Amino acid sequence: MADIYIVNTCTVTNMADRKSRQMLHRARKRNPDAVVVAVGCYVQADKEKLLKDGGIDLLIGNNKKRDLVNILEEYLAGREEKTEQNTAVIDIGKTREYENMQLRRTGEHTRAYIKIQDGCNQFCSYCIIPHVRGRVRSRRKEEILSEVKALAENGYQEVVLTGIHLSSYGVDFSQEEKQAQGMEEESGLLSIIKSIHEVQGIERIRVGSLEPGIVTEEWAKQLVQLPKFCPHFHLSLQSGCDATLKRMNRRYTTSEYYEKVELLRRIFQNPAITTDVIVGFPGETEEEFSITQAFLEKIRFYEMHVFKYSPRKGTPAAGMEQQIPEEKKADRSDRLLEMGRQFSKEYRSLWIGNQVEVLFEEEKMIEGKAYQVGYTRQYVRVAKRTDISLANVMDRVRVTDFLTEDIVV
Ligand code: SF4
Repeated sequence: MADIYIVNTCTVTNMADRKSRQMLHRARKRNPDAVVVAVGCYVQADKEKLLKDGGIDLLIGNNKKRDLVNILEEYLAGREEKTEQNTAVIDIGKTREYENMQLRRTGEHTRAYIKIQDGCNQFCSYCIIPHVRGRVRSRRKEEILSEVKALAENGYQEVVLTGIHLSSYGVDFSQEEKQAQGMEEESGLLSIIKSIHEVQGIERIRVGSLEPGIVTEEWAKQLVQLPKFCPHFHLSLQSGCDATLKRMNRRYTTSEYYEKVELLRRIFQNPAITTDVIVGFPGETEEEFSITQAFLEKIRFYEMHVFKYSPRKGTPAAGMEQQIPEEKKADRSDRLLEMGRQFSKEYRSLWIGNQVEVLFEEEKMIEGKAYQVGYTRQYVRVAKRTDISLANVMDRVRVTDFLTEDIVV
């Protein structure tokens, strides 16, 4: 039982709203005298509703998380009723400020996730994020580098750069700001990767989800020269059918997407290409779904995250006609998941017989034997049979076979 419960809420689907409410009410039930604080996207999306909810004491929206301790202290000093005045929710669409928060140590992982960007200007028709996270805001290079250096000093060898729309990193900087940060000549993301590459102790730089638009020949040719850069590209696809992509308001066509994948495969040796796909988007006919299947067959991703479309109120797609029944979405999802398993196996098989570099993370017992398990630069999971902990050790091993469906040994 805690005295203070802080729930970082999500609002990405109607279901996420419900889960956020459940979590807040569960906290209240555990300790009726606790201070229950709702933070984040759901607060940002539905402040009015939460203000009326007697089970929640404080509301803190996005770009205000940094003030959490001060807000809590003030509240505890007075312990007043929550009101519109002590609610920390700003007009997120208007702010241009990146909310800087520093990370020095993470939970159990050997890999540190570093947020470098917030907000999105894309407005895909199914997505609420631009409304609750606001416009693109990028973190300044010196702040990122200071965090990366602190993490490296604490022994982290791998960093993963994340953001809501990472490909837009830097687009909000003025010409002067770009110049001051030495990024006027190239994409902001490339510039920050190059700067992190110089940080002693960091051996791997991985990037989160990217839009295909960022991939150009010049961009890829510069990245391939950076040995610390991990050739693992998560390019959000969402659909392999142009008509569906158009209804989703995605800003590329399947042929453009395909070209980018081909380019990466030409410049990098066996890069890992992974993606997200949404099935059952409003109006997705059987024919459109088959077009997506055929496109996925053509690309053969290393990993596909398959999502059943879930309407989010307040987005154009939630009001579209021809919503797809749940059974149909489930069936399409099962078909893609099966396909994804095959592709994944194919990609992992490519590494059998090869020497790979692994950053080991944890020990895992498999069929009664201890293995040290980690990932290659391409995010292939590899196990080595030994009882000695190799956590955070980088080593080279020869892959001989599959140990389980998703681990090679
Ligand atoms: S690009 Fe991503 S975050 Fe932005 S609106 Fe589309 S799905 Fe949402």
